[in-house]
Amino acid sequence: MYKKFFCKVNCFIALFIFLMIVQGCVRNGKTGTATGKKSYRTDVPYLVVLSMDGFRWDYPAIYHTPNLDSIAATGVKAQELVPCFPSKTFPNHYSLATGLYPEHHGIVQNSFYDPVLGKYTLSDRKAVKNPEFYFGEPIWVTAEKQSVRSACFYWPGSEAPIKGVYPDIYKQYDGSVSFEARIDTVIAWLGRPAGERPHLIMWYFDEPDHTGHEYGPESEQTKEVVEHLDSLAGVFCRKINQLSIADSVNLVFTSDHGMQAISPERAIALDKLLKDRWVNLVGGANPVLMIDPNAGCTDSIMSVLKNVKHVKVYTKSSMPESLHYSDSNRIFDIVCVADSAWSIYWKASHFSTGGNHGYDPSNRNMHAIFYATGPAFLKNYVSAPFQNIHIYPLFARILGLIPAATDGSLTPTADMLRENVRE
Ligand code: AMP
Ligand code: ZN
Ligand code: ZN
Repeated sequence: MYKKFFCKVNCFIALFIFLMIVQGCVRNGKTGTATGKKSYRTDVPYLVVLSMDGFRWDYPAIYHTPNLDSIAATGVKAQELVPCFPSKTFPNHYSLATGLYPEHHGIVQNSFYDPVLGKYTLSDRKAVKNPEFYFGEPIWVTAEKQSVRSACFYWPGSEAPIKGVYPDIYKQYDGSVSFEARIDTVIAWLGRPAGERPHLIMWYFDEPDHTGHEYGPESEQTKEVVEHLDSLAGVFCRKINQLSIADSVNLVFTSDHGMQAISPERAIALDKLLKDRWVNLVGGANPVLMIDPNAGCTDSIMSVLKNVKHVKVYTKSSMPESLHYSDSNRIFDIVCVADSAWSIYWKASHFSTGGNHGYDPSNRNMHAIFYATGPAFLKNYVSAPFQNIHIYPLFARILGLIPAATDGSLTPTADMLRENVRE
């Protein structure tokens, strides 16, 4: 009898462990999916948004990009897409998704300190998945809340249940997955039966950022990778055109920021200029460093740094309005910004060559691309430059969603829409 009882207990424990593993795979493994009993709308258009990291606004002018050119001819392009400050990857992808400035959505740098939650960095998976770091409402959460199925393939922020909501499909970041495999996955999602396919897809390539950093924006290597990405955009469009739903798919090709050539001859280290006892913490990354001063030391630090050439230094109270970068307790009291093409480091261990971004968005080399085609967009229309905070309201309009409150508005982007979508 004892044997039978223990056998039953063992079976129960095994079943419990199995269920925990399945749950763990869904929530913590490579792919998450919230698909369950939820019923989704099928009467909304499709919107598929690809971000190619660090794709500078003028790459199509200086390199050969026939596929992006033909997207502009059948649809729209912005002359330039203006990022938020700092023009780094996570702050700007999350601005694209929420329509908020980084000071309001909370992702103020790729790595920063929160006084309560501690450190956020891209390499800390636990932090990246912690919803408490993310404020605002990303468009996939707006979609899910209004019964529009969404999918994200590495979009920054999509691995966390923001406001308690995941995209219906999301993936744990793995930069080694090929771009071709990502294309095939997105096409497979759109090839699912009606009612099962996502209507909003946000996906991501980590190029030409990597190559731009290593070799600089105006290099043979960056040219090659930009032209390869353009050919992949062409492959993707052709695969979309073979789908039964092709006519109702809107495609957007955009980016988070541009790229600026830098040189070790234009680099400054700050640590030797300041006394250790003045500084509590240093955060951010070249070309934007943030200093948390020890009590009473702000004036000492400022009096030294304001005389350093090629660096602008601000306290929260002297921050230029245009940067929208003071309304957060994750922004330290002192912010140092290198002038365009210059680099600042805390310690002089190494000075990078190649390219960088993060600069004040008034530097045009920080500007990114916005190309779009599909039933919501005009044909062969070129829009004036606009800021990326205005993209969330545009996406909400295309999908027929009631938007959350943002720092942006539909006004600067509405001119790209066909009249029936605009109104
Ligand atoms: P940066 O150029 O410093 O602004 O950072 C860009 C880098 O962030 C990319 O090259 C990727 O390697 C990395 N990255 C992009 N998305 C993610 C993600 N979801 N999780 C972790 N790292 C990411
Ligand atoms: Zn980036
Ligand atoms: Zn980068």
